[in-house]
Amino acid sequence: MKQYQGIGVSAGIAIGKVFVLHSGESFNLPKRTVGPEQISNEIARFEDALTRTRNEILTIRRKLSSQIGRESSDIFTAHLLILEDRTLIEDVIEVIKNEKAGAEYAFATVIQRYFQAFSQINDEYLKERISDIRDVGKRLLGNLCGEEKKRLEEFEGKVIIASHDLSPSDTASLDRTKVLGFVTEIGGPTSHTAILGRSLEIPAIVGMDKIVGELQDNDTIIVDGTHGIVVINPDQATIDKFNSQGSRFNQLTGELDKLRDLPAETLDGKRITLAANIEFHHETASVISHGGNGVGLYRTEYFYMNRTTLPTEEEQYDAYRKVAEAMRPNTVVIRTLDLGGDKFASTLEIPHEMNPYLGWRAIRFCLTRTDIFKTQLRAILRASVHGDLKIMYPMVASVYEVRAAKVVLDEAKAELEKEGVPFNKEIHVGVMIEIPSAALASDVLAKEVDFFSLGTNDLIQYVLAIDRMNEKIAYLYEPTHPAIVRLIDMTIRNGHGHHIWVGSCGEMSSDPAIAILLVGLGIDEISASPVALPKIKKAIRSIRYVDAQAIAQRALALHTGPEIYAFLKAKLKDVCAELADE
Ligand code: PEP
Ligand code: MG
Repeated sequence: MKQYQGIGVSAGIAIGKVFVLHSGESFNLPKRTVGPEQISNEIARFEDALTRTRNEILTIRRKLSSQIGRESSDIFTAHLLILEDRTLIEDVIEVIKNEKAGAEYAFATVIQRYFQAFSQINDEYLKERISDIRDVGKRLLGNLCGEEKKRLEEFEGKVIIASHDLSPSDTASLDRTKVLGFVTEIGGPTSHTAILGRSLEIPAIVGMDKIVGELQDNDTIIVDGTHGIVVINPDQATIDKFNSQGSRFNQLTGELDKLRDLPAETLDGKRITLAANIEFHHETASVISHGGNGVGLYRTEYFYMNRTTLPTEEEQYDAYRKVAEAMRPNTVVIRTLDLGGDKFASTLEIPHEMNPYLGWRAIRFCLTRTDIFKTQLRAILRASVHGDLKIMYPMVASVYEVRAAKVVLDEAKAELEKEGVPFNKEIHVGVMIEIPSAALASDVLAKEVDFFSLGTNDLIQYVLAIDRMNEKIAYLYEPTHPAIVRLIDMTIRNGHGHHIWVGSCGEMSSDPAIAILLVGLGIDEISASPVALPKIKKAIRSIRYVDAQAIAQRALALHTGPEIYAFLKAKLKDVCAELADE
């Protein structure tokens, strides 16, 4: 029995058999042993992956050579030569045969041998070939591992997935009826993979370094998503201990669910709108069952993932209409496409960038690809007659982006008007405050929009210069850093100064201690994962607004993130010990 610590991102306990899903991102794979009768199948899988990889590279080379000339496409010729290397192919087949190994392990082992050999050669040109081998190797491994999902489908019963990484699109396509929980080696608390774990309502842990190498398919593991603990092959006493912890968790969840139909109101009568963040239209059922008063953030980019064509206006209209109708008379804030960062769509050729979080993404992408943007705006406008829909733009850094977006929105409105299609002419438009410049100049932005929503996941990463995906620096990702608390305070004051409402839809507001701070700072709406709503409501219903205000003022005067957090936790304990102890 062994125990490991990672970052718990979706609460609850899962106990079950593990399924090791290889992501193709790392060449450090654990060995999968196969029976003698499966050897020819593994060789065939490898050869099939070679052919698919070769075809992919030929397509890219053809495209590049017509777009930017032959020279730049030469690199892919080098990749093809590596794939055709007989020695490499034979070496892999030999490892499969001699070591009775799965194809991906055999290929990764041989590739690593090549790295070693090349790095010892004293020739700059040959050394540079290492990066070609790595590139083409990853592509081939990706193709081999792509089949892993098929293997998962064939796996008997429910499993806990362990993987080096699960991309947001991989996570979005997980089948909830098969997956009890997951654990990954990389990723931070607000990575979209973590967020999806919460929306799937399964226990999940990220940032658990080197866990995959410790696991074999069918090992029994415990995933404690509340505390970030994994236990491999636990004894019966440990299983019993975690089972009773799981029952306590379910009991608290059951207690909190009783608050479902009560308002999110402080003891002295200040009401906060408690809305939910969703990624898929069918999640409205979960929003309602957890007592949400609307949708404060609908992340529409998942529409564009795991598919080969762009979503049509009709298809989007259909989903937006369903959400509007399900939540009526409550409000639904639809965020326009926020691709980029850790979220990519296979249909859109967004080039690989050095700094994708600072790159061509979200509103920046939409303002260049106005065709895609306008299709989405038309769909939202058409759906706006079926409920209370609002539009929100992500990653706004400057006022002129809002103005440019308005031009496209006005065009969409004019088109619909001409076509005689009904829509809400007064539809409200807001922006996410998630880039430091937007928070610092929120007085200027407030004049141009109807509302703000604080996107603290990104705001924290940009203000503190902490990659929200990186588990190694996750300890520096401090939602209560004085700089963050001050920026939130400033944004709320600027919004209110211009008579617009201010919400918060980042993950930090899921923490009841922080929810108290936001209430005290004057937030009008809190939006969080549906599962987090009951405990936020409980915290709000446990405190007086005047006390929350005093707490917020005191927090603003403190000097460090940990100090502020400890102070908030202590205050939460005073008013609701069961939440503070969780
Ligand atoms: C945020 O940045 O806080 C946010 C809510 O948006 P996302 O997590 O999708 O970037
Ligand atoms: Mg964001």
